[in-house]
Amino acid sequence: MTLPRLNFAHLPTPIESLPRLTQALGGPRLLVKRDDQTGLAFGGNKTRKLEFLLAEAQTLGARTLITAGAAQSNHCRQTAAAAARFGFDCVLVLAGDPPAQPSANLLLDHLFGAKIIWAARSERETVLQATFEKAKIEGKQPYLVPYGGSSPTGALGYAFAMQELIQQMKDLRGLGDLGGLGWIVFASSSGGTQAGLVLGARLFGFGGKVLGISVDEPRDVLQERVAKLATETSERIGERIAFSPEDVLVNADYCVAGYGVLTEGEREAVTLFARTEGLLIDPVYTGRAAAGMIDLIRKGFFTKDETVLFWHTGGTTALFAEKYLDALK
Ligand SMILES: *Cc1c(COP(=O)(O)O)cnc(C)c1O
Repeated sequence: MTLPRLNFAHLPTPIESLPRLTQALGGPRLLVKRDDQTGLAFGGNKTRKLEFLLAEAQTLGARTLITAGAAQSNHCRQTAAAAARFGFDCVLVLAGDPPAQPSANLLLDHLFGAKIIWAARSERETVLQATFEKAKIEGKQPYLVPYGGSSPTGALGYAFAMQELIQQMKDLRGLGDLGGLGWIVFASSSGGTQAGLVLGARLFGFGGKVLGISVDEPRDVLQERVAKLATETSERIGERIAFSPEDVLVNADYCVAGYGVLTEGEREAVTLFARTEGLLIDPVYTGRAAAGMIDLIRKGFFTKDETVLFWHTGGTTALFAEKYLDALK
């Protein structure tokens, strides 16, 4: 089975160790996989998904990419950049009202030439569908990029990311480096990243655990979503593997404040990563996942002789979003 893919991400992304953060927390050995460095317009996890999604759009003869997200959506920023790079028009349906001063991801959406349509959060789905239908009628040959890039096609990116990680582990084994990688911890939301990783773990034989920290969904909702998506993604690859919600590890203890709300946990995580490693994480996704990981380390959830890999999914442009400036300075 051929899986159409455009190769534009900078791969493999580096794996780095975090010795000063490890020491500061006094817990398991910490590593980071730098998917904030995927190379497209400040990088992030949507790049791997877009390699497959844009190939699908091209195969279907599409000329316009349409997608939706929050005002500070990293997915929309990366989609707009990929559209510019491959010559598609791009329309973004964003939730909320236009701010007086576009900052961070929204500023970049403008820079990439995306057309932006604002819709109330409750009407975003309807407006998205209407925008798609209108573009179709006008002959713009639209392709609907799924929310968060999380369709079976998009999730393929993370099945192969797991293959990439396993290969890197093999290459590093001589250094005694990654042999005992017990956990992968990362931010999970629309589920494509986790679905791909869970599928890749099964397909390519990863022996550790894949723990998604929920950014905005209850545990059972995310487990079900990821299991369904992982199953559908396996069908895309040509061999159906049925995943059940129990196969999907999710911790939803850190999302009670709601999407995009910066709590003391995220603030501490962003600051701690910056001050111990000079490493930037973001206020919405990786900040929340890191806050969860830090709390779990303090509670003794991981044993001290384990190795935990924090999969950095990007989003650092949101550090410059107007709404976080006061909290982070
Ligand atoms: C979209 C996003 C996620 C969540 O990935 P999903 O595949 O939607 O679960 C995590 N981190 C960042 C920075 C993101 O932009």
